[in-house]
Amino acid sequence: MNRAESAKLYEEAQRHIVGGVNSPSRSFKAVGGGAPVFMKRAKGAYFWDVDGNRYLDYLAAFGPIITGHAHPRVTEAIVEAAQNGTLYGTPTENEIELARQLKEAVPSLDKVRFVNSGTEAVMTTIRVARAATGRTKIIKFAGCYHGHSDLVLVAAGSGPSTLGIPDSAGIPGSIAGEVITVPFNDLNGLKLALERWGPETAAVLVEPIVGNFGMVMPKPGFLEGVCRMAREAGALVIYDEVITAFRFHYGTTQTYSAAFPDLAAIEPDLTALGKIIGGGLPIGAYGGRREVMEQVAPLGPAYQAGTMAGNPASVAAGLACLGVLREPGVYPRMEALTTRLAAGLQTAAGRNGISLTVNRIAGALSTHFCDHPVTDYAEAQDTDGELFARFFREMLERGIYLAPSKYEAWFLTTEHTDADIDATLEAAEASFRAIAAR
Ligand code: PMP
Repeated sequence: MNRAESAKLYEEAQRHIVGGVNSPSRSFKAVGGGAPVFMKRAKGAYFWDVDGNRYLDYLAAFGPIITGHAHPRVTEAIVEAAQNGTLYGTPTENEIELARQLKEAVPSLDKVRFVNSGTEAVMTTIRVARAATGRTKIIKFAGCYHGHSDLVLVAAGSGPSTLGIPDSAGIPGSIAGEVITVPFNDLNGLKLALERWGPETAAVLVEPIVGNFGMVMPKPGFLEGVCRMAREAGALVIYDEVITAFRFHYGTTQTYSAAFPDLAAIEPDLTALGKIIGGGLPIGAYGGRREVMEQVAPLGPAYQAGTMAGNPASVAAGLACLGVLREPGVYPRMEALTTRLAAGLQTAAGRNGISLTVNRIAGALSTHFCDHPVTDYAEAQDTDGELFARFFREMLERGIYLAPSKYEAWFLTTEHTDADIDATLEAAEASFRAIAAR
């Protein structure tokens, strides 16, 4: 594939934009370096680069693009919002409607507040939890990524792991010292941490289904244990559902009874949301129990604000996106495609003598080049990044766009079809064959 124009733009970009990218996870550093692909336009499950090459998209912009690119209903909503003015700095009626729809889908949300990104959403849940408990420490799980605010950029998965940044420069030790990290799926680790720091712990923060070192499911009983043990210690529970909300079904992990029949009774105190709820425009939201949320200004002493928060275009796009997702059959279709894709990838790898573990859930999967299951961060690290990089390059040459990191998930959209899955599996077979032949 000729990507001369991307290469040229990358040269230019590096002169003006640090690293040539506006988010490190967009760089190709983890997959052998060189110019990332500069995209020009996108429609449905496909995007086209500046050289005119077409790619089937499994990046979905790292999750938000669940209804495919430029979905007519989402686009129309954005255009209409823009025509009425993009920002007022006043409340609007539509943001009440989006809040109402989120509350309806996620019963643990008594009250919500919109912000502009997942980072802001998680950052604020921590502030609110500290305000509500009068405590300072946070327990998180190794490899879980919660955005780039100071407190959570410790043992964070996804981008930081990909680039090998341990605890990020620029974060004072005094802040990192407020964060305790324990392995995901390890209740004993959490127990030990709480025995030592329980009385100082404001909250236990978790991605209830991990999306940042592949897709990793909680083991049966893990989330129940997290919630029970946190509460026994007087700490709050924060679910980071920035990726998971509306990804696997119309709701969040806390309402995902297909996978967690026993979870209904367990509700986090606070939930962070983002990505899909903005239909592809910038958004974040956090919410939770009334008494906890009433810590937030103007009702309470915990301050959080935002010039752009609840902007009419993001809210309109979010409403349109959720509308599409409420249509019958949307999630079962994505789930069926994901299941077939996961099984096909596994078979194709096996046929070519390549060890591959595929984790999957409706609408998302992850590929781990290893011969063991991946249930925590250590296991996700213990996989062949070199092999992933070769697979990534082979797939790219065949017009299949994966996230450029072994830790990132593949995301499907409502626009992916059976024919797309066939084409992907054909490309995967050829890619594995090419890798095995070398
Ligand atoms: N939490 C999780 C679970 C995420 O995956 C991400 C982003 N990948 C964030 C928070 C941060 O969201 P944003 O990039 O919108 O700031």
